[in-house]
Amino acid sequence: MMMKLKIYLVVLSMAFLILSVLLYFQQNGNKVHNFLSDSLTISNEAFHSHPIKQISENGKNLPATTAKLVAVGDILIHGIVYKDAKKNNSYDFKPMLAQIKPYIEQADLAFANQETIIGGAQLGLSTYPTFNSPFEVGDALKDAGFDIVSMANNHVLDRGVKAIENATRYLNDIGIAYTGAYTSHDDKENIRILKANGILFSFLAYTYGTNGIPIPKDKPYVVNLINLENMKEDISEAKQMCDVVVVSVHFGNEYERLPNDNQKQLVKELAEAGAHIIIGHHPHVLQPAEWIETEDGRKVFVIYSLGNFLSGQNGHYTKIGGILQLDIEKTVGVNGVDIQIHNPAFLPTIVTKTSESKYSVVPLHQVYNSNSEVYQELFRHMTHFMDDLYFIKNIQ
Ligand SMILES: [Zn+2]
Repeated sequence: MMMKLKIYLVVLSMAFLILSVLLYFQQNGNKVHNFLSDSLTISNEAFHSHPIKQISENGKNLPATTAKLVAVGDILIHGIVYKDAKKNNSYDFKPMLAQIKPYIEQADLAFANQETIIGGAQLGLSTYPTFNSPFEVGDALKDAGFDIVSMANNHVLDRGVKAIENATRYLNDIGIAYTGAYTSHDDKENIRILKANGILFSFLAYTYGTNGIPIPKDKPYVVNLINLENMKEDISEAKQMCDVVVVSVHFGNEYERLPNDNQKQLVKELAEAGAHIIIGHHPHVLQPAEWIETEDGRKVFVIYSLGNFLSGQNGHYTKIGGILQLDIEKTVGVNGVDIQIHNPAFLPTIVTKTSESKYSVVPLHQVYNSNSEVYQELFRHMTHFMDDLYFIKNIQ
């Protein structure tokens, strides 16, 4: 009788133990999801224990969800730009973005290429050829509604590892995620995932080089270089953890308005490897957008170069940039998650003088009306490889 009671007690305590473990994991799962929505990024480790392979079990598709993503090119802060933003002992770049802010903040997710490192004024500000920008650039991006910046570009090491550490600390403090440059191995391993309307986006970023400044041997993680094998591995890892893989690539020839063969080849490889959206920059001028059809029938969206967004460059095509806008639709069906990209749209912008600032980013149609040759030529240019890119004239 005693023996039976003992067995009964052992079974009971085992059941209690299993129940506690299950409850713990359930609570932890909730934490992961809260963390996702609150602070944008999550660690790989936390996520691997809770895979998100969603499958509809009732044999029907679940209602689709959609998120709007916007992306802009180079935030390239020359000396003349930060001098224009100087206010007593600090800097204010917000007026420079005031006119395009409504187009950024209406999106669910907003991406920019932070070309010049935001190392802060204490480190000593500097302009071309080795840039260092004030922290207040980050404040203006945050205020305009940007969620994530790429730092994988040829200027990332301009002012050394210290500037990267300053920039990442500041961006963390103000709640902007960064990708492509890192402060440790763990930081690099932590794939950036942002959630919008129930859709998980990962952001990977790479650059062709660092202007000849060597990457410190003991800190190989500081910046992601273009390397097809590494990129494919990252994409396949990201795909396990999210619904949509966005790859930012700093590549191409400066001031060339069409992509070169290397860009086209790399983009094809990245599309085949599983990228959904590829965002290019570096040429300082706009290069067209294109749909890439993969061998398994997916349509991948690429824009080869987003040009400059905010800069002190004053050539006609280097003053013109724009805001790319995409609607990403997720449907969960019996075979898992399906991602479709809809309504590719573009708001061309130009850096010009306004009452607010000498360097303001404004919609192009405010300077050149939509019937002008400048506007029409840009439309023909951006639709060179595709005919369904819509030019935005007003906020929808
Ligand atoms: Zn560049």
